[in-house]
Amino acid sequence: MSKPAVVAHGGAGPGPMRQDNLEKAVEKAANILRLGGNALEAAVEACVILEDDPVFNAGTGSVIRTDGSVLTDASIQTGDGRIGFVIAMEETPNPIRVAADLLDEEINGLTSAGARLWADQRGHLRADVEGRLPEGQIGDLDAEITGDTIGVIARDSSGMIVVATSTGGCSFRPPGRVGDVPLPGSGFWAEDGLAVAATGIGEAITRALLSNRVYERIKNKNTSLEDSMEWGINTLIPPEHSVGLIALGPTGPGIGVANTDMPWATWEASSSD
Ligand code: ASP
Repeated sequence: MSKPAVVAHGGAGPGPMRQDNLEKAVEKAANILRLGGNALEAAVEACVILEDDPVFNAGTGSVIRTDGSVLTDASIQTGDGRIGFVIAMEETPNPIRVAADLLDEEINGLTSAGARLWADQRGHLRADVEGRLPEGQIGDLDAEITGDTIGVIARDSSGMIVVATSTGGCSFRPPGRVGDVPLPGSGFWAEDGLAVAATGIGEAITRALLSNRVYERIKNKNTSLEDSMEWGINTLIPPEHSVGLIALGPTGPGIGVANTDMPWATWEASSSD
């Protein structure tokens, strides 16, 4: 019997400004887990709260791409080896629900028009996503720190771990661009009772295969979540790129580490729950 827990982040960059918004999602996941719900349900429903909150660069609040489009990416992985991810979905305010629906399919991932067609066939909400303009200007390095993508990891009483992430992509990216969020091992990794999720400049995260390498370090070197995440950010990511990580293991609460401001929050069941 494991103690249920959850950890979530609100993106590398925005800092404490979005802490309260993030904590609402953690509370939602905690309530599901308290009532005996599973980690999959808790991670997806917390993610949906964040996708529906326009302050985050995910779902409804996704940043507008360089051609004026709003495209959403999401991914999910369970500790028992299932994966679902969707890339560049139009008119999809909750891509995490589509990604979750792929978990038990033969296909792991879908992209653009094909992803939307599949989502339509499965009855997933199709709605205009207004999005928001990125702050700053093209070429302005600070402007890249709009990173308020979201990520959630939940653990239930059976010890199952689920990681879920969602984004509109980094600021000032073209419509066909693929970031780290939907790429297994880059934006997320979960196996057995341990999971890691990343946020920040997706290109740097992808080049480092960051989530998987931090996962492997925790597992094989037996170092703490925090030390391993610090190692990953400090040694695998060039310092000019804003990046953050969250992780949750088989015991204890989750942890967040970033080389910039990153709102994160965690909850672990106590004996009074
Ligand atoms: N990592 C995301 C991407 O590159 C953006 C972010 O985390 O803010 O699409």
